[in-house]
Amino acid sequence: MDADLLHRYLEFYQDLGVKTLYRRTAPAVGGGAGGAACPVTEERVAGETLPQILADMGDCRRCRLHEGRNKIVFGVGNPTAPLVFVGEGPGADEDAQGIPFVGRAGQLLTQMIENTAKREGIALTRDDVYICNVVKCRPPGNRAPEPDEMEICGQFLTRQLLAIRPKAICALGGTAARALTGHKEGVTKMRGRWFQWREVPVMVTYHPSYLLRPYNQDAKREAWEDLKKVLHFVYD
Ligand code: URA
Repeated sequence: MDADLLHRYLEFYQDLGVKTLYRRTAPAVGGGAGGAACPVTEERVAGETLPQILADMGDCRRCRLHEGRNKIVFGVGNPTAPLVFVGEGPGADEDAQGIPFVGRAGQLLTQMIENTAKREGIALTRDDVYICNVVKCRPPGNRAPEPDEMEICGQFLTRQLLAIRPKAICALGGTAARALTGHKEGVTKMRGRWFQWREVPVMVTYHPSYLLRPYNQDAKREAWEDLKKVLHFVYD
């Protein structure tokens, strides 16, 4: 490999959120998917499917979040969905079931998607979109994921989005919004506005857990507005 190709590989890894690379001795023969003999290269990522990414994730121990998890929460829904919702990280219910957004916040998200679509005359159920999180293992006590955890797990989100190739992404809450867009503002400043992940438009809105708090009536109304915007953009 010449210096120019190496440089391009390193840039690509950086794009995936991988900032630290380790040199390993190659195994004598073969090597499984995702092992040292089968690195994540641009060519490989371009044609990857979600099951291949999940297989590469394996029994992931790449960051400390694996220590307390019950199940990896990879993602759920239509693998060719034109719309992907990205949350922060699994909670207790998601960790128990291995499925994102199945607890109270998840039920609210499902209602918001399906009721808003119905009211707007768009035939859409939760199964038609894809739902995942920035980190795939539950942070202890539902704390926000740490920057190094998001960096390590971020490669899987990037690869999921490259495999799905959605028309738009909806970032749920500040953590997802900042992880996807690189902007550092709070969610109240970012919500209702379009940003970009690579070339893909990203609509930012509140996290459903925030909307569950009883004093957030205005935020609820704003979230319905944000959702309407993204649904019409994708499905009109
Ligand atoms: N909150 C998230 O951010 N993701 C889930 O999957 C559940 C709750």
